[in-house]
Amino acid sequence: MSAILLVLSSPSGGGKTSIARRLLERRADVGYSVSATTRPARAGEVDGRDYHFLSRDEFQRRVDGGQFLEWAEYGGHRYGTLRSVVDEQLAAGRHVVLDIEVEGARQVRRAVPSSVHVFVLPPSAQTLRDRLEGRRTESPEAIGRRLAIAASEIAAAGEYDYLITNRVLDEAVATVSSILDAEQCRTQRQPALEERLAELAEAVRIEAEQARTAGAAS
Ligand code: 5GP
Repeated sequence: MSAILLVLSSPSGGGKTSIARRLLERRADVGYSVSATTRPARAGEVDGRDYHFLSRDEFQRRVDGGQFLEWAEYGGHRYGTLRSVVDEQLAAGRHVVLDIEVEGARQVRRAVPSSVHVFVLPPSAQTLRDRLEGRRTESPEAIGRRLAIAASEIAAAGEYDYLITNRVLDEAVATVSSILDAEQCRTQRQPALEERLAELAEAVRIEAEQARTAGAAS
């Protein structure tokens, strides 16, 4: 099996983090890339589980050291995917989910052309606003900023390979899971394809010959 790098993007409040979490609970073959960020931790967030929370200097040091597969600025803070985190998951043979914004997704597309990109749309603008307000983690100004960014992110959704609408969480999770399954069956992703097909075709030829011989003998 060749492990897949799955990029999940959506506007803030669109539900990609919940989809990623639930996908991880359901599938042992999927790992999550914990991002690094300079944003302060929200109440309930744990360093190393939700994010690696870094100072701006530390983040810059890692940028200079080439440690990021991608990184971008969002809402005045930096967010990035550490190569080491992704490599660790891929080496363990797991697909890796990246929950990242649009600019970072573009960088991943350039760096890893075989990555699969899914954009999660909210069912409506009102739902998006309700979800952001319901989290009670941001001020009205911050919510306004996030919704403004959301509008420009939705405009870029056409760049993605798949678009799904997050109406019911479990259904969205099932859809993302089927995308992973289908992508795994892609001809181009099959390891040693020519050898496997040649071997099987040869085995079938032998069966054909034996069937003919058995027919002639009876
Ligand atoms: P939040 O502050 O709500 O946790 O995340 C804000 C935005 O940053 C979300 O769209 C989230 O997907 C994105 N984000 C989180 N981690 C990364 C990352 O490693 N790289 C990039 N480019 N965006 C990220």
